[in-house]
Amino acid sequence: MNRIGNILAQQEYSKEDLIELLNAGPEDTELIFKKAAEIKARYIGNKVHLRGLIELSNICAKNCLYCGIRRGNKSVERYSISDDEVEMAFQFAIQNKLGSVVMQSGELSSPVFIEKVESFLRKAKEMSNGKLGITLSCGEQTEETYQRWRVAGAHRYLLRIESSNRELYYRIHPKDQLHDFDTRLNALTSLKNCGYQTGTGVMIGLPFQTMEDLASDLLFMRDFDIDMCGMGPYIEHEQAPLAEYNSELKPVQERLTLTLKMIALLRIIMKDINIASTTALQAMANGGREQALKVGANIMMPNITPGIYRNKYALYNNKPGINEEAEDSQRNLETIANRADCEIVYDAWGDSKHFD
Ligand code: SF4
Repeated sequence: MNRIGNILAQQEYSKEDLIELLNAGPEDTELIFKKAAEIKARYIGNKVHLRGLIELSNICAKNCLYCGIRRGNKSVERYSISDDEVEMAFQFAIQNKLGSVVMQSGELSSPVFIEKVESFLRKAKEMSNGKLGITLSCGEQTEETYQRWRVAGAHRYLLRIESSNRELYYRIHPKDQLHDFDTRLNALTSLKNCGYQTGTGVMIGLPFQTMEDLASDLLFMRDFDIDMCGMGPYIEHEQAPLAEYNSELKPVQERLTLTLKMIALLRIIMKDINIASTTALQAMANGGREQALKVGANIMMPNITPGIYRNKYALYNNKPGINEEAEDSQRNLETIANRADCEIVYDAWGDSKHFD
């Protein structure tokens, strides 16, 4: 057995092991993918669960340096989805047996916003007789707000740390009170305290990011004992300040392979968590999401936001699906799952097996 084969045969990986795995060449990378596929088959099977993605609003109080809808980007036309439109999206999810929705939004913490999300949660439960599973991804909030939304029906929450390296975090976020690294860590802990299945994730291929950073990200997710992960390649947005460093980025194919490696390694070290095959992967390459399913991912998120808003929630360049209506999006996912020899499960929450 070669060096990579020997590391893969271990029960536990050190940070140095993970760095070596992340640096593996093409042939050795196939060994990593093979091991991850075996683990996925054993612990998760070939089932894929769906979350219908509803992008509630692109209004955001924050100014993350990589993001297209950051507060400082004045060229974005802002929107907030209406009550009727949210109900239409819920109806679509129910009729098409998606089983779950994800409600995502720019980060706001006003009483009006908190109440709005709460009322959407109650509506989703009412319309589906409690059957629709609900993930929220509405950023950092107080524990009290998380608790309120939990009571109203949310049971999973995704809050991406983006980078677990404090120094790198502050190179991709303004260094101010609104973008405080410790506040984000505390928010993740609050989510656990409130009984959510808690998810996080990172961006892969950021300028300034090293393999050591990515290895630490994997260990962070393991040590924090997350239940779910949504991570994807960093894709630049030309109107975001971080675009200044575009010349330092790894080529697209390299970022894609690195993302797939991260997914595979996370599957190997966290065997029974939910891992999303994200839209950003598809933006990088046709077949990106399908490859992610093959090496460890088990969740896909058809975008069911009303079509007129799709191009207004552009966090990064070339976001796919912005011209599609919800039906197309779902049909595409069926094809992707089939190509990865996976089977979509309808009408089920698909909770993280890791959560107890
Ligand atoms: S990444 Fe999220 S919190 Fe940051 S500016 Fe974009 S929408 Fe707002």
